[in-house]
Amino acid sequence: FSVPTPKNEPINSYAPNTKEREALIAKLTEMRSIVADVPMYIGSEEVRTGNKQALTSPHDHQHILGYYHEGDATHVNQAIESSLAAREAWANLPWENRMAIFLKAADLSATKYRNELNASTMLGQSKNAYQAEIDAACEWIDFLRFNVHFATQIYAEQPISSDYVWNRLEYRPLEGFVFAVTPFNFTAIAGNLPASAALMGNVVVWKPSPQQIYSANVLMKILKEAGLPDGVINLIYTDGPLTGDIVFNHPQFAGVHFTGSTKVFQHIWKTIGENIHKYKSYPRIVGETGGKDFVVAHKSADAKALAVGLVRGAFEYQGQKCSAASRAYIPNTLWEQTWEYVQADLNEIKVGPVEDFSNFVNAVIDEKAFDKITTYIANAKASDKAKVIAGGNYDKSKGYFIEPTIILTEDPHYTTMSEEIFGPVLTIYVYDAEKYEETLDIVNTTSDYALTGAIFSQDRYALEVANKKLVNAAGNFYINDKPTGAVVGQQPFGGARASGTNDKAGSMLNLLRWVSPRTIKETF
Ligand code: GLU
Repeated sequence: FSVPTPKNEPINSYAPNTKEREALIAKLTEMRSIVADVPMYIGSEEVRTGNKQALTSPHDHQHILGYYHEGDATHVNQAIESSLAAREAWANLPWENRMAIFLKAADLSATKYRNELNASTMLGQSKNAYQAEIDAACEWIDFLRFNVHFATQIYAEQPISSDYVWNRLEYRPLEGFVFAVTPFNFTAIAGNLPASAALMGNVVVWKPSPQQIYSANVLMKILKEAGLPDGVINLIYTDGPLTGDIVFNHPQFAGVHFTGSTKVFQHIWKTIGENIHKYKSYPRIVGETGGKDFVVAHKSADAKALAVGLVRGAFEYQGQKCSAASRAYIPNTLWEQTWEYVQADLNEIKVGPVEDFSNFVNAVIDEKAFDKITTYIANAKASDKAKVIAGGNYDKSKGYFIEPTIILTEDPHYTTMSEEIFGPVLTIYVYDAEKYEETLDIVNTTSDYALTGAIFSQDRYALEVANKKLVNAAGNFYINDKPTGAVVGQQPFGGARASGTNDKAGSMLNLLRWVSPRTIKETF
């Protein structure tokens, strides 16, 4: 079971006057100048229903990037049938052949399709060039290569045998189809949820977020060109509840690989529970949901590093990462200095469309998100418990732009300290530096989520106290760094409590959920 040792894909910075930047700009211009026609992919067919829905840019919402063909119940059923028809041949294909397809997809993504992956993510999801590169190129490529490596490690893990008895573990795929439900905020996650289940020999019905269909189409083209057989992954654009109704009532439903909201995930879980008697096997339920991620500073923290962590952690990709820093606890003795650094960093930030590479903050994903986020800001402006101390302006006339906004509160339980906003809003609570331990207790109990969190301190004893008190408050815990930007193979990603099942994306733990091992004992 030997495969190439994976290395993280190097990040291209697209610096001014480089040929890489020029090529990316050329791809952006080309993609903006055409109107794409995006089909669903079911079995061997590219399905065009004629029920066309517009794909627009969040930062330029009148600009039509293309149209996707929406499907209905017939297409959900066809996708399930196509997956089941492909199952036997795919499950029986020797593992090397399966792995080779995903390694080839990684190679195509790193070379021929890199600009298209990045440009589609920039235009369709309003990510700046750097944020697109670390997602649609690097993280997606890393998921593919590292998962191949992890899969072969799993296959190599075998029980002990003797001269008379040979024990084997056969890592079979699940008996049925897997349903992948994917989010808008990471192209890499959207690709990885169906691809990782397929890598382990499963067949998949994939329903992306409508706001990510533009780049999902590129992912699918890559997988097809890499040689993924028809029907192994079926990509459909159908209504969520309608799709769920069909999928979760199907006897061969074998598992769901989900990233999205806690509310939807809980609904899925409940529906599966209600239908449990209908299934051939107990389905796998794997989900990454929301976050209300914290940054805590001890009085010994380096104020400059803390400021960088706050600004980058809160405002990269407009705060639309599940991992984004959204509540911070800063000791009064450090506050003034930290605030100066934060202001200096904020002054460097420009807000605007992705086509201008100097814009660090772009638009939020759609009008619904814009309205939700700006309501929190308007409420904070009107509240006597909170004060907007940075940003606070917004405008949706051309694109859904919201300034990076910081709210200061004296109430550690104020709504924006506990509710997920999923936008460029950070709330700060300044605490009495002598009440560090009490503050850690507040951090631990204020939110139901437990995805990511960060502690800044130069004092090992203070770090250890945080380590213990916050042991269950975050699945990804960062010491002296921002809580975003987990790298595949380096920081396996996932959270517990209301944040998900913590089956660490990009690790063996996740891949193990997509197999149903058979133990074989042979006696000589
Ligand atoms: N893995 C990403 C990070 O570490 C976050 C993923 C998400 O937002 O779902 O920032």
